[in-house]
Amino acid sequence: MLITPHTLVGIALGTTIQNPAVAVPLAFVMHFLGDLVPHWDFFSHTDREQRLRGWRPIAVMADLSLAIAVGMFFVLYALWVVKSTDMAVNIFLCAVSSVLPDVLEAPHIYMPPEKEPKITRLVYYFQHRLQFQAPLPWGIISQLGVMGFCLLLILSSII
Ligand SMILES: [Zn+2]
Repeated sequence: MLITPHTLVGIALGTTIQNPAVAVPLAFVMHFLGDLVPHWDFFSHTDREQRLRGWRPIAVMADLSLAIAVGMFFVLYALWVVKSTDMAVNIFLCAVSSVLPDVLEAPHIYMPPEKEPKITRLVYYFQHRLQFQAPLPWGIISQLGVMGFCLLLILSSII
């Protein structure tokens, strides 16, 4: 999935499950379940060249920036509006945890193969097998569904 829906799943867990010892590891596991939702992302059916050149790296940065903005918004909302430092910390940790598998995979995509650390190759291998791709527009609609569901969960627990 794209980074933004992954992040929203993390935020939803951070707002609904108060105990970080449960929520943070769960957010990590939910990344892999998220990738099982049929989806389209910038790397669907691409080769190494296509991932490194053209519009794709820019799109990834835009997705990442949006994810960070959404994460920051809810962290600050928890701090300033809900006035709960615990919730703010929990949301932050869950959001990071929910995108961690993709962060660990980044060296596989952006580093030359001979310089790539073994651990990232392992994460990539594992993640690649769990990806469930879907063609457009369904691959985006499914992610909009995930995001909508997460937003409902988030709003129901912070308002
Ligand atoms: Zn992933």
